[in-house]
Amino acid sequence: MKAVFVEAAYQVKVKEIEEQQVRADEVVIKVKAAGICGSDIHTYKGLHPFRKPPVIIGHEVAGEIVKVGEAVTTLKIGDRVTVEPQTGCGNCEYCLSGKVNFCEQRGAPGVGNWYGTMAEYFVAPENCVFRLPDNVDLYQGVLVEPLAVGVHAVRKADIKLGEKVAILGAGPIGLLTLECVKAAGAAAILVTDVMDYALESAKKLGATYTLNITDKPNWVHDIKEQIGLFDKVLVAVGVPGIINQALGLLRKGGRVVTIAMFHGDQTIDIAHLQGSEKEIVGCMTYNREDTLTAIDLIANGFVRSDVIITHKLPYEKVAEAFRIVDKKEDSSIKVLVTFD
Ligand SMILES: [Zn+2]
Ligand SMILES: [Zn+2]
Repeated sequence: MKAVFVEAAYQVKVKEIEEQQVRADEVVIKVKAAGICGSDIHTYKGLHPFRKPPVIIGHEVAGEIVKVGEAVTTLKIGDRVTVEPQTGCGNCEYCLSGKVNFCEQRGAPGVGNWYGTMAEYFVAPENCVFRLPDNVDLYQGVLVEPLAVGVHAVRKADIKLGEKVAILGAGPIGLLTLECVKAAGAAAILVTDVMDYALESAKKLGATYTLNITDKPNWVHDIKEQIGLFDKVLVAVGVPGIINQALGLLRKGGRVVTIAMFHGDQTIDIAHLQGSEKEIVGCMTYNREDTLTAIDLIANGFVRSDVIITHKLPYEKVAEAFRIVDKKEDSSIKVLVTFD
């Protein structure tokens, strides 16, 4: 089968490889499409903490089941599915309490023996494969994973009806998080970014305010003057200085949730915490309930996939697809790589 490798930094290649063996508890999915995620771009640049080239890339996926292992009981050939791309040991205190994302043995595509999703076929254990409702197409199915990140972030932030929320960063994760923040009942939502086209999309998705922070060193101050302070700030871009800026936007007792991948140190003015009881809360992927909620949100029309999915390229053009995402060319937001 054909599979997409990140061979070395900035080198993406399609190669012919042997299909993977299927264990008793696994299914084989004929991949319809796989998404390029911000974290795949970290791998592409050689910066990802555990996904190192050469590697079959990808963890966002949807497709149709073509084979099931003999112990599989809940899925069958022909099912249209997506995958929550993480596994736990099943036995530790975290797994037993439903927090697979904390498992020390946590497995993910592109790590160890588990291939990435960007291939003609993808093998996954039954317990992390989810059937899609009939009214959710396979392209929308690819959005379940990044949307589950937004669902988890909203739960970590504990967003309540009527709150004011800021989302820093309008990439695919920032925009899908915006959909979740809206669904959670926020009364006002600010989205910041450095790309006007991404902020246009944020407006289409219902952002109350948007701000391009390019060349605006005092933007936090300006926002406070013009809009006021926020109950929750969700950080979906890992640039230097962003955590202090996020804390600066919060009202006393408010909460920052970190969603982005960060490289390097961040400075924190401790007065925000000690003097104002603000909180900084981490956010690591998602859990099964987040994935189920993400599917429900899509099936019930809460997610504008027409705004989020901007490109679909066949796998033969995968190098172009990665370049488009990395360079933010052609007003790209979510770029899918297709296999049909
Ligand atoms: Zn992702
Ligand atoms: Zn475990």
